[in-house]
Amino acid sequence: MSIILETASKHAIATIGSHSALQILKGGKDEGFRTIAVCKKDHSFIYRHFGVADRIIEIPSYSEFHVAENDLLMENAILVPHASLIAYIGLEAVENIRIPYYGNRRILLWESDRNLQRRWLEKAGLNLPRVYEEPEEIDRLCIVKFQGAKGGQGYFLARSSEEFYEKIGGSKDYSIQEYVVGIPVYIHYFYSIIRGELELMGFDKRYESNVDAISRIPAGLQQDIDATYTIVGNFPLFLRESLLPEVFKMGQSVVEASREVCKPGIFGPFCLETVVTPDLKFYVFEISARIVAGTNVFMEGSPYAYLKHGRPMTTGRRIAMEIREAIEQDRLKEILG
Ligand code: AMP
Ligand code: AMP
Repeated sequence: MSIILETASKHAIATIGSHSALQILKGGKDEGFRTIAVCKKDHSFIYRHFGVADRIIEIPSYSEFHVAENDLLMENAILVPHASLIAYIGLEAVENIRIPYYGNRRILLWESDRNLQRRWLEKAGLNLPRVYEEPEEIDRLCIVKFQGAKGGQGYFLARSSEEFYEKIGGSKDYSIQEYVVGIPVYIHYFYSIIRGELELMGFDKRYESNVDAISRIPAGLQQDIDATYTIVGNFPLFLRESLLPEVFKMGQSVVEASREVCKPGIFGPFCLETVVTPDLKFYVFEISARIVAGTNVFMEGSPYAYLKHGRPMTTGRRIAMEIREAIEQDRLKEILG
């Protein structure tokens, strides 16, 4: 164990202080790494309070992340990405980050461009909700979404092109998807390059404002509320066991298709965002090609990760374990991208 800790401690694990940073940093520490949180000044006390970061680098704003880069290089840090990195620093800036980056950076383009994402998911043979190119095509209940990792903010529902134009305002960067009636299930996967295996880390469902508040209002008053989907938090979920083979099949197909569209493909944590209909079909409405915040509900490990690893294992810790094993086997290059 002391040799393992010695190997890991030559590197640091760094991330931006938001989203799933508590989990990522705690996981890093549990695997023997030094940990660094890069934070906006007014957020840094959180990482101090919970004692997960050996060092905190304060920056004036996330857009000035580059200010921290030299320090991170000196620390021999490996950067673990999450949605806040992409939402606040931007895809282009992320591509230019000089610090070793955990994961395949180029897959982020396939995630963020909705046409590329669809091509990838179609190649994987998944069930997808119908997409409408033009508002005039709307012929059933649809959900209108906006670009970027904005967490469902401003999304709205429309049944017709008239309703669409009433609600859209000035925005042009939208996509229109068939609204699939069923229950949302977010599937957390981890694909290990080092072990060559897909793992199931857990499932969550989301708590979104105001859509999850509507059932608290008497039916007669609900029609006055415009539903939207701002993410506020997450709940853990345990899935009907007979659905697990389909869950693994979908994850495996996504990994295989990713190798064709963007070599060397997706690895590390990713999430299929699905709706399950009453006939037990999964409709995949989105993929996140990195850790999702829903994994935070399993800070002591999910039932599935516990079964697989025989001890509490978070997605954050699983990332650190992968990095540690890569270092030990002299394969670090394979998991940086
Ligand atoms: P934040 O740093 O909290 O502003 O989050 C940045 C982005 O990460 C948001 O726009 C969301 O897309 C995503 N995000 C943050 N927290 C969560 C969560 N608990 N569940 C799902 N997505 C989240
Ligand atoms: P997203 O930002 O893509 O994760 O979506 C935010 C929320 O919108 C999800 O939690 C779902 O509840 C809902 N949603 C997104 N797409 C669909 C869809 N095609 N059908 C039904 N619900 C959806």
